[in-house]
Amino acid sequence: MGLKVYLNGELVDKEDACISVYDHGLLYGDGVFEGIRAYGGKVFRGREHVQRLYDSARAIALDIPLSPEEMTEAIETTLQANGLSDAYIRVVVTRGVGTLGLDPYKCPDPQVIIITDSIVLYAEEHYRNGLEVVTASTVRNHPNALNPRIKSLNYLNNVLAKIEGLQAGASEAIMLNAAGYVAECTGDNIFTVNDGSLATPPVHAGILAGITRGVVMELAAEAGIETLQRDMTRFDLYVADECFLTGTAAEIIPVVRIDSRPIGDGSPGPVTMELLRMYRELTGGGAG
Ligand code: PMP
Repeated sequence: MGLKVYLNGELVDKEDACISVYDHGLLYGDGVFEGIRAYGGKVFRGREHVQRLYDSARAIALDIPLSPEEMTEAIETTLQANGLSDAYIRVVVTRGVGTLGLDPYKCPDPQVIIITDSIVLYAEEHYRNGLEVVTASTVRNHPNALNPRIKSLNYLNNVLAKIEGLQAGASEAIMLNAAGYVAECTGDNIFTVNDGSLATPPVHAGILAGITRGVVMELAAEAGIETLQRDMTRFDLYVADECFLTGTAAEIIPVVRIDSRPIGDGSPGPVTMELLRMYRELTGGGAG
């Protein structure tokens, strides 16, 4: 049986899950999305993801034609229809079909898409040995231009930085904000560990308020580890004892080299590995 995709209230075969070339999601990147995980058949932090989706939609004046409760149910239904227990869930709401002009008010019918599939972002060896990353010269979107808190379909800012990373042989890239402070990676938030405390850029640095970031701060608090949310420079990254990235798909991934400088002793640190262990215990997830 092939995968079924939820499209505007119906479950259709993956091959038949199509939207119009006049959809403003395609023409202008006008829409919002979420990436969610299910572990053992249970949607992880579903309420928070659905809330963030609706916040993103409100920020771009997009009316999602379902209530948050109906959306939650649609996600569950799609997951069950595909018989998936561990899955990556992609919820997309596009502005819908309009004219060839920008005007979103000429798009009366937003499209709701739910894809449940699998995702492998980083090889398991990277969870053991750590990742090498670089800082990108592409500056993270200024919050007053396109706030990174909006998880919009317009990810070109991130794609440009990702290209820089890949060209440098790194699978993630760190983005700085317009003031030169560390913001986040192209699809992950970033943390450092120094003297047993965590530090991470504040949301006002112009980042996505990552749900995994929030979970990690909760786990750290549980373990008696404090987290400082503060402006950070590349210097702070280079002199960190440990560094790791967080994201729904990545979970917690150690970083062992930044801009060719080894972090700590150049291998994943104990605080990172303990948080990863706690995270996997919480989700019940095994391998990434
Ligand atoms: N920053 C960006 C730019 C992202 O796209 C993501 C999600 N992939 C994250 C951070 C991590 O957010 P979350 O933990 O909610 O997945």
